[in-house]
Amino acid sequence: MILVSACLAGICCKYNGGDNGVPLIKELVRQGKAIPLCPEQLGGLPTPRLPAEIKGGSARDVWQGKALVVRKDGVDVTENFIRGAREVLKFCREMGIKRAILKARSPSCGKGLIYDGTFTGKLVEGNGITAQLLIDNGIGVLTEDEIATLYLLND
Ligand code: SF4
Repeated sequence: MILVSACLAGICCKYNGGDNGVPLIKELVRQGKAIPLCPEQLGGLPTPRLPAEIKGGSARDVWQGKALVVRKDGVDVTENFIRGAREVLKFCREMGIKRAILKARSPSCGKGLIYDGTFTGKLVEGNGITAQLLIDNGIGVLTEDEIATLYLLND
């Protein structure tokens, strides 16, 4: 079983109430090979919600209490992001899940590159809060972009 970001499975859990549906991910869920979760919703945030980004450091810094996750209007939502990530890790452990396909660039789910905290669309190197926690706990994380590249390479 693989964990997938719920928005990639077509679930409308994005901050703006939309989804990021990817046919391949939807098919994995339909076949019972993947299970969708949204860490931001699991952290108690509503949908729709204002966008949030990591400010003042990396996801590791957030986990070490040295940086924050802040909404576009300046409200600190770090606690929600941490709670959601912990729920996802707990679920993975309970279900024996060892791999995840997560949404690229998200402050929760992104891996490798995420938005830089200025809400201008600029990217910086780093992981989202949930992705970081999963990686640090031995769960293999790929983004949907990496999956698409692998798929093309194997085509
Ligand atoms: Fe998608 Fe992850 Fe954002 Fe939820 S937290 S909407 S699953 S990218």
